[in-house]
Amino acid sequence: QSNYEDLQKIEGISLIAGNGEKNDILQQLIKIDFHDTVIRVKPAKYLKKYDNVPKNKSSSLHTRAWLKIQDGCNRFCTYCKVPYVRGPARSRTVEDVLEEVSNLNSNGVKELVLTGINLGTYGRNKDKGKTNLAKLISLISDFKGIKRIRLSSIELIDIDDELLNTFKNCSKFCHHLHIPLQSGDDKILNLMNRPYNTSIFYKKISLIKQVIPDIAITTDIMVGFPNEDSNSFSKTINFVRKICFAKIHVFKYSNRKECLAALLPNKVDNRVKKERSKRLQDLSIELFYDFQKKFLNSIADVLVEDEIKDKEGRIYSRGITDNYIKVIIPDFIGKKGEIVSVKLNQISSNYVISLV
Ligand code: SF4
Repeated sequence: QSNYEDLQKIEGISLIAGNGEKNDILQQLIKIDFHDTVIRVKPAKYLKKYDNVPKNKSSSLHTRAWLKIQDGCNRFCTYCKVPYVRGPARSRTVEDVLEEVSNLNSNGVKELVLTGINLGTYGRNKDKGKTNLAKLISLISDFKGIKRIRLSSIELIDIDDELLNTFKNCSKFCHHLHIPLQSGDDKILNLMNRPYNTSIFYKKISLIKQVIPDIAITTDIMVGFPNEDSNSFSKTINFVRKICFAKIHVFKYSNRKECLAALLPNKVDNRVKKERSKRLQDLSIELFYDFQKKFLNSIADVLVEDEIKDKEGRIYSRGITDNYIKVIIPDFIGKKGEIVSVKLNQISSNYVISLV
């Protein structure tokens, strides 16, 4: 999407398709003449604010499906090229989304994961006040076959009182939120142009945990952003512990030519980035173990997603709780697609074993 002029110079490429054009790639391949390079990329500057989002075929595990409802972003964090390549924030219409939900519902999907670049802005480019993410979740929850609704990720500042009330009151809403933090140092958050500081972040997370005590809050952290010194990194480690995230996805900063952060001085050495990344990954394992431990010996509802067989032929069912704990149930068969109540008996690093 962003470097198609460079790609065009490479010999042997027949088709370059942009993000908005990737859905009908097979039809495009059928039509092209393989002697020339065909470019089908709509530059982000031509994406209009009210353009609808291209329909993706929702990808599905049969029990769980990912449904894209929003694209683009207006925020311009200084390290991120998404606004330049995906264009401004825009949303699918409610009718369009509900039509797809209806199809997935008829096909036996039990859990829907709503996805988008900036999910919390859903509906803001539509008729003001008529639709937003909270209202959409309520409408989706009316489909009887859909038992769970999950969000792929949401920015902290988009969680307002209406949305928090929906999280609390919608019985189908999964108690799992992925909220990117990026850094635990206010100096770095400011340089990143993130729309909060650690104090705002802490207060909002405390409120969410107060309203939904068993919630899993996971996050993204970027290491090695320019000017992140050892003091900044220590602040991040301490803040991550203070928040008690259930899991952390760690990313290493890299320069993007479109982005303002590329102009900042005091770049961080790759070796240091690797060390910091490793420390946070180890911390994530520790935090997830502690998170799972809180639910040891409790009863949890598990959506059974598949069955696997080990070398000895023993069968295990695999599934997840609504707060994203992976559960393995030995000698348990024939329940794929069902939500079963089981006791969480033993913790492994990445999953919990239930002995029924
Ligand atoms: S990091 Fe997220 S909020 Fe920031 S510009 Fe990128 S997509 Fe937008």
